[in-house]
Amino acid sequence: MKRKTALTHLQDAKPFLWLNPNCQSAGGVLSGLPLQYEDILEAENRLKRFAPLLADLFPELEKSQGLIESELRPIPAMAAWTSDQAGGRLPGQMLIKTDGDLPVAGSVKARGGIYEVLLFAENLAAQKGLLVPGDDLRTLGRPMVRDLFQQHTISVGSTGNLGLSIGITAAALGFKAVVHMSREAQAWKKEHLRANGVVVVEHAANYSVAVAAGREAARHDALTYFVDDESSRALFLGYSVAALRLQTQLVDAGIRVDGDRPLLVYLPCGVGGAPGGIAFGLKHVFGDAVHCFFAEPVQAPCMLLALLSGFTPPRSVETLGLNIHTAADGLAVGKASSLVGQMVQDLVSGVFTIDDDSLFRFLRALYQAEHVRIEPSAAAGFAGPYYVCCSLAGRAWLQASRLSASLPKATHLIWTTGGSLLPAAEFAAMISRGKDASLTFLQACCRV
Ligand SMILES: *Cc1c(COP(=O)(O)O)cnc(C)c1O
Repeated sequence: MKRKTALTHLQDAKPFLWLNPNCQSAGGVLSGLPLQYEDILEAENRLKRFAPLLADLFPELEKSQGLIESELRPIPAMAAWTSDQAGGRLPGQMLIKTDGDLPVAGSVKARGGIYEVLLFAENLAAQKGLLVPGDDLRTLGRPMVRDLFQQHTISVGSTGNLGLSIGITAAALGFKAVVHMSREAQAWKKEHLRANGVVVVEHAANYSVAVAAGREAARHDALTYFVDDESSRALFLGYSVAALRLQTQLVDAGIRVDGDRPLLVYLPCGVGGAPGGIAFGLKHVFGDAVHCFFAEPVQAPCMLLALLSGFTPPRSVETLGLNIHTAADGLAVGKASSLVGQMVQDLVSGVFTIDDDSLFRFLRALYQAEHVRIEPSAAAGFAGPYYVCCSLAGRAWLQASRLSASLPKATHLIWTTGGSLLPAAEFAAMISRGKDASLTFLQACCRV
């Protein structure tokens, strides 16, 4: 698809699949990037060293001994429903990665957000001489260290879930925590934060504005550390650890991934950190056998816009006349991260967009078929297998990538990124909205 056609589709808020003409073989791309495999391993090791402290801080982590991980889950009933909607079979098996069930934060943000808070805490304690290399990190739970943390503030801008992840972890370690929330943030997420002792600053503006306000406030306060979602390496690396965990889970499930058995992964995308970090990790682990697609709302396709028009600086979708309004609050972002753009622009296979009605239809179908609760953002990936297998663009891509024949042996992995913390009343309202919704994107998908 020509760049201009793609921009017109974006501008018209029309759901469609864009295939990345710059996607190249993983080996060559990865070796030239500023972050390497060793960086992922370092993040994984740090999380392991922190596990005993996390198990002390959060009773829900006792069972997993401080490891924050989600289940990889086959969804045969949902796969059958999905296939029915496409009027036939969608070749390949379908699984979900249930990051909505991640403990502590209830979303994919648990990986990156918690990691960055831990990294900051470790460095601060070391700098003040309260931690020496080799120390058990449970030291950071001792009263003397908590006294130090209490003098410091960790702040962040958020549409909701990043705030939950950073705020809850920071507060549990004894820090003051401040979350700058954009207008999309759900009321229940704000309440949940306040109940955990976090200060919520509400902005009647979009995400980029909330982030800028938080960044600016922190700049004037030497005792405030700002987690910058638009440029954070720590967040990115925290997310990337998911790839190592998935590798083990696939082996345990007896699912092989290689040239004949491709892994197709569908990742909901906001500013880009979570899907970008995960895709980066997956490319290191599975190389060219994994194909990553990002999913964005039709009103907030910031990553796709930046891939089409450059990351220095990234354009806001508002310049296309889009309004960023979507029920997918986790994806309601107007401007992509340029750090992430630089990391993934040659690694991501494509990006597709989806309308809100379709999100609610998927959310309802997944609950009815598999009893899994997700929030609207987390439903975006479900459009992926349709786009790849049924759309003209997707089928042409399969053929050009020599994947058509191996599709029956393929694994479609839909990354479901949030939902377990949803209050029952909120979820009931979403289920009911899904009842009257249809898969609107599907008509467009089958034509383009
Ligand atoms: C934040 C979020 C994403 C996307 O992550 P980004 O790092 O913003 O791209 C996806 N799903 C949910 C539920 C989220 O909260």
